[in-house]
Amino acid sequence: MVTAMSTPTSRAEAPALPADVRPSGEEPYWKPGRQVWWRYWPRAVRPMRVIRDDADGLVAWMGPRTPLHKSVTTEGKDLRSIPLGPARFTAPRATKRDVWHGPGILKVAPTGMPWSIWLFWGNDGTFHSWYVNLEQTHHRDDNSVYTRDHVLDLVVYPNRRVEWKDRDELAAAVEAGRFSAEQAAQYEDNARAVERTVAEWGSPFCDGWERWRPDSRWPLGSLPPGVTATF
Ligand code: MG
Repeated sequence: MVTAMSTPTSRAEAPALPADVRPSGEEPYWKPGRQVWWRYWPRAVRPMRVIRDDADGLVAWMGPRTPLHKSVTTEGKDLRSIPLGPARFTAPRATKRDVWHGPGILKVAPTGMPWSIWLFWGNDGTFHSWYVNLEQTHHRDDNSVYTRDHVLDLVVYPNRRVEWKDRDELAAAVEAGRFSAEQAAQYEDNARAVERTVAEWGSPFCDGWERWRPDSRWPLGSLPPGVTATF
């Protein structure tokens, strides 16, 4: 599905996902090596290479300097340039074309889970951490994964220490009406469930993905044709 996303809109509108999407985790699965677009609906698009896709979930890689679309202010600035508070969620947004900065990330999205786990390595190839991005359970069509960010995040270090991130930002999102208090409480419950998985060292933390490495010959991903950005 190709959609023009150049018009600034308020995040409060939270447009529905395209009608033709289905829950992830069912056949047909994507073959390893193909490109898909991982979308934080409605603006952000990340071209990613499928590493594994089956009933357990999707694993996909985004290499350094991959072109992407991200959500920005109508001046083209990072959303974090807006001081923390409701305005960060109510200010009109636009789409900016950028590239992925850093050594690349591997995303693991177990089927039916309201999060994906991003593995980060340092520039020297040393594994750094698992970043648990709380997000809507995943849907897909033939070429894209669709989700929405739930603001709250966890960082899990190799020594299994868990750090909560952006709780204050989640509170601001509730204040702004972006999420209800009930939704925010659910996202915090989801984070606590991940904490329990870490305590038991369950999947995907125990699956060894931190030892996985990309092939440096893989081509850069590309954005969907016909999708435009304001900046
Ligand atoms: Mg997040």
